[in-house]
Amino acid sequence: MAERPLLGGLEAGGTKFVCAVGTGPDDIRALERFPTTTPEETLGRVIDFFRRQPEPIAALGIGSFGPVDPDPGSPTYGYITTTPKPGWAHTDVAGTLRRALNVPVAFDTDVNAAALGEQRWGAGRGLHTFVYLTIGTGIGGGVIVNGRRHHGRQHPEIGHLFIPRLPGDDRPGHCPFHGDCLEGLASGPAIAARWGRPAPELPPNHPAWDEVAQYLAFGLANLILTLSPQRLILGGGVMHQTHLFPRIRRHVAACINGYVALPDLDTFIVPPALGDRAGVLGALALAEEVMSGLKHGIL
Ligand code: ADP
Ligand code: ZN
Repeated sequence: MAERPLLGGLEAGGTKFVCAVGTGPDDIRALERFPTTTPEETLGRVIDFFRRQPEPIAALGIGSFGPVDPDPGSPTYGYITTTPKPGWAHTDVAGTLRRALNVPVAFDTDVNAAALGEQRWGAGRGLHTFVYLTIGTGIGGGVIVNGRRHHGRQHPEIGHLFIPRLPGDDRPGHCPFHGDCLEGLASGPAIAARWGRPAPELPPNHPAWDEVAQYLAFGLANLILTLSPQRLILGGGVMHQTHLFPRIRRHVAACINGYVALPDLDTFIVPPALGDRAGVLGALALAEEVMSGLKHGIL
């Protein structure tokens, strides 16, 4: 059997970058995480990581925080575009790494990459339409429709869906753009700001959690009604609170209220099978796609 080519994956997050070399979940040869600082320093560390590997990679996949330009036909393909993150607006992530490492590069949003990782090796296997949502420092969603990663005009921004405020909730929403969007009500920093304690410190019986589950359920109900997904995969730091899953399932069923028949909720709303590695493994899967494109003479 021919050796599978060695692939590189980069999960470029707003808080941390994760680099990996390998061929899949059971064959990760090296993995490194470091904090996101300036573009020069952070991309420099990425280049250094891949250059110091004993074997060269054949292709690099990148899943990036955004907003990004994921259109391969665009002159700014592979750029982080209008991010409010200081120093990072209009950064040519894919081009910088392609030139430095001299390998073909594939680029998409961090959440589309994670969705691809789950499709290739995890909870999205065998499905044609599903959503991967991360609930962490921000909220974002990657969307697979008819087997393909969805982009649309740019890419969806599911974290900023508008969400109805619950009666009696008079704590301000935390999104600087919208106040009460999903991210403004249910991301890790929103939970901390709205309840005055870091989210990981709130005990499971704290009233914050049922409220968070209800707000997330509103968002998921909107996705169910818009996309008719076969599954909703929920990852990110906040979902380490696993007691949220049964609460979210209950609230989703209550929101939909029988209007559309829902499948078994325990297999419909699930954690990522790849856990916190979905993003970086998805980036490897992007690199794998580049390789198969090369084999078929597409690139
Ligand atoms: P990022 O979104 O930056 O990639 P994470 O997905 O780990 O990283 O999300 C970090 C956010 O999740 C922080 O706001 C943190 O407070 C929150 N978080 C991390 N672990 C937990 C936990 N066990 N319970 C609740 N919130 C958590
Ligand atoms: Zn918002």
